[in-house]
Amino acid sequence: MAEGAEKTKSSKRKKIALDPKLAEYRGIWVFIEQEEGIAHPVSWELLGRARYLATTLEVEVAAVVFGESQEKVEKITAEALSYGADKVYQVVDPALCDYRSDPYTDCLVNLVRKYKPEILLLGATALSRDLASSVATLLETGLTADCTELSIDVESRSLEATRPTFGGSLLCTILTLNYRPQMATARPGVLPIPTAEPGRKGIVIREQMQIDEEKILTKVLSFIPEPYKTAEKLSTAEVVVGGGRGLKQPGHFALLRELADLLGGEVGGTRPVVQAGWLEAERQIGQTGKTIRPKIYIAVGISGAIQHRVGIEKAGMIVAINSDPNAPIFDYADIGIVGDFLEIIPALIRVLKKRQSPKTELHAKDKPFEIELK
Ligand SMILES: Cc1cc2nc3c(=O)[nH]c(=O)nc-3n(C[C@H](O)[C@H](O)[C@H](O)COP(=O)(O)OP(=O)(O)OC[C@H]3O[C@@H](n4cnc5c(N)ncnc54)[C@H](O)[C@@H]3O)c2cc1C
Repeated sequence: MAEGAEKTKSSKRKKIALDPKLAEYRGIWVFIEQEEGIAHPVSWELLGRARYLATTLEVEVAAVVFGESQEKVEKITAEALSYGADKVYQVVDPALCDYRSDPYTDCLVNLVRKYKPEILLLGATALSRDLASSVATLLETGLTADCTELSIDVESRSLEATRPTFGGSLLCTILTLNYRPQMATARPGVLPIPTAEPGRKGIVIREQMQIDEEKILTKVLSFIPEPYKTAEKLSTAEVVVGGGRGLKQPGHFALLRELADLLGGEVGGTRPVVQAGWLEAERQIGQTGKTIRPKIYIAVGISGAIQHRVGIEKAGMIVAINSDPNAPIFDYADIGIVGDFLEIIPALIRVLKKRQSPKTELHAKDKPFEIELK
């Protein structure tokens, strides 16, 4: 794979002149992930960041949209333009109906070889991780996976792709200096979705590809959307109630679900509870799970390890409920409640149930509420 360079604060890298052949690569591309004609929100998050990076580099932002029908592709194209793309490259073919590595990789590699973008961004989802790795391998370029931050090193015009490393205890910034395009996948939920400008116009380029269905080894027998939807709901929920090993038994998640329902939110959890089979894998939050950015995150019986923290630090407010006053989560929670969740959560549920309109009332800053522990 490509040669990368880790950047440290103290190091002064020599300015490396880009191979003239690579200097002709220009522009930032975002691959728009879609299933059943619905784009994954991470695509819009990436377009927002691409616009920001493009301003520094003074280049255009392009979206790449694949699909089996012109109608579905046009709908996503309009969305991509509204979220900041200047240009959209479309490929429409029946073989691109459901995601399969072979045809998607061939189409994306062919487009990159023809139009030469300097940066290619994809979501760090199961689908796009698969695509990104096979595309990077065929293009013989560098890919930084699972990034939490993307910026530009102005001196070298290089993408600075930052990701957790050493089990999440450090962040490292990786630059692909001698290969193009520079590729990165970014975690869903870490970058904000920009405000859409419906009706925004741009250039649409329709590409024809020769795709031979007979040569594609994988056949899609059926499409099961539920895990994707669960993951998406967790990433976009305004309130998330997370449970950890402190819940002691899987049955106690019912309390968290009741609280989440009253607040119009979703339930997530730590890796140990997922590994213990108390919660579905799609609901794991953290370094090896989902990154979330709710307005309120309520962490119940969670110690607050760094691997969990990286998944929740974009939350607007973190409320921690833990019986140990020295739990690390209290170092970064906005509100800390020291106590047994078996007393605190039922008390919260009682208060919320008493309220006519619990969701609205809880958000009203001028109406604090009291909870009575029994
Ligand atoms: C490579 C790697 C990747 C990882 N990825 C992830 C990841 O994506 N997500 C993740 O979460 N973890 C991840 N981990 C695991 C992580 O390091 C921690 O072990 C994990 O987050 C701890 O989970 P926990 O808080 O549920 O459990 P614990 O650390 O055991 O904490 C339980 C907490 O519950 C409290 N408690 C106990 N009883 C009560 C009670 N009655 N009321 C209130 N509080 C109570 C305790 O005081 C304690 O603080 C990863 C680890 C590695 C090595």
